[in-house]
Amino acid sequence: MGRLFRDESVFDIEYVPERLPHRGKQLEELMNVFAPIVEQPGRIARRVLVIGDIGTGKTVTTKRFGQLIEEEARKRGVRVFYAHVNCQRLRGSFFHVLLTAMRRLRPGFPDRGYAPHELFMSLMNALDEEDAHIIITLDDAEALIKKDGSGPLYDLSRAHEDQLEGRRRLSLICVVRDRKKIDALNEATKSTLMEYVICMPKYTEDQLFDILADRVRLGFYEEAIREDVVRFVARLSAERGDARFAIELLWRAGKLAESEGKREVMPEHVRKALMRVWPIPRDVVIGLPTQAKLILLALAREFQMTDEPYLRMGELKDTYRAICEEFGVRPLRHTQIWKYVRELADRGVISAEPSGPGTRGRTTFIGLRVPAEELRKMMEEELSKELGV
Ligand code: ADP
Ligand code: MG
Repeated sequence: MGRLFRDESVFDIEYVPERLPHRGKQLEELMNVFAPIVEQPGRIARRVLVIGDIGTGKTVTTKRFGQLIEEEARKRGVRVFYAHVNCQRLRGSFFHVLLTAMRRLRPGFPDRGYAPHELFMSLMNALDEEDAHIIITLDDAEALIKKDGSGPLYDLSRAHEDQLEGRRRLSLICVVRDRKKIDALNEATKSTLMEYVICMPKYTEDQLFDILADRVRLGFYEEAIREDVVRFVARLSAERGDARFAIELLWRAGKLAESEGKREVMPEHVRKALMRVWPIPRDVVIGLPTQAKLILLALAREFQMTDEPYLRMGELKDTYRAICEEFGVRPLRHTQIWKYVRELADRGVISAEPSGPGTRGRTTFIGLRVPAEELRKMMEEELSKELGV
């Protein structure tokens, strides 16, 4: 039995956690915008546009909203259905959007024999029969726009245009990554879709840490991963601000530790996992000057011996000097070493951060972004060739 994972399903991309750190505001906004749907059923329909980069929580937040609004409606005895449609997966066909929506009301509804506009009519009729409201989320709506143009969005967003009296039964949430895709639509569709706009900014390092910490609690056994290692994962994902990347990195690191029969996830597992998504830029590393290689070898050896995610500049220098002696090379002075460290950081092989405000003195913390073991072998091989040792 695995000793690391308590519940691996929480790392699944489909998993919808109860708590969504740092998306409380957006969730509340959605609930507020749609409050009239449950408070005054039939009076109003809404159209909302959700915009954000990959991994900013667009899918999970709208899905969680769907659960909450259905719950709220149930409490009040109002019929509200939430249909989440992944347009990418349905290869962007309008017919499938409608079919997914229809099946929320009529499970097992047949998938043939209808043209889209007929299916649309059937859906509206079914909503009347049930006295229900449906909120359709078109997730990754770009795919739908790409395939069928703005027609479907136009139809859906104007479902109630020509009825003045009728009850409002269909609301729309459009989820897109790129605002430009919306700008390309015709004016009429654009203006209706943009009635409400909700933005999902990229996550910061601290926010990613909070998201990861929740998954760690749910998914790992206690003491399976240290807090500073979780922070290391957040740090490595912060450039992208992408929670999907961060969660996947965490999970892969866990899988690696598990496959090695370990009880704890270590920084080296994280670096190895990172390399699966982001391999060592071999030609970049091979092409480096000899001194940079000596510095990298020092780092690789240090990180192979420690389970800390970061190293102080002073520790690096000591090991570096020992390695210079081993290879019979004159060591560089501090400022020169520093120059190479900066260059390696620019190339993304290592990270170099000044110590935080809480720490005393001023030293630089260096982190490695590639597995120490692999880097050590590569550098030893290269340096022996170059220096003939
Ligand atoms: P998007 O749809 O914007 O690409 P997702 O909603 O699919 O992003 O989120 C990517 C991953 O990160 C999913 O596993 C999701 O559960 C998780 N996630 C994103 N934001 C949060 C958050 N605020 N709290 C918890 N998990 C989150
Ligand atoms: Mg998504």
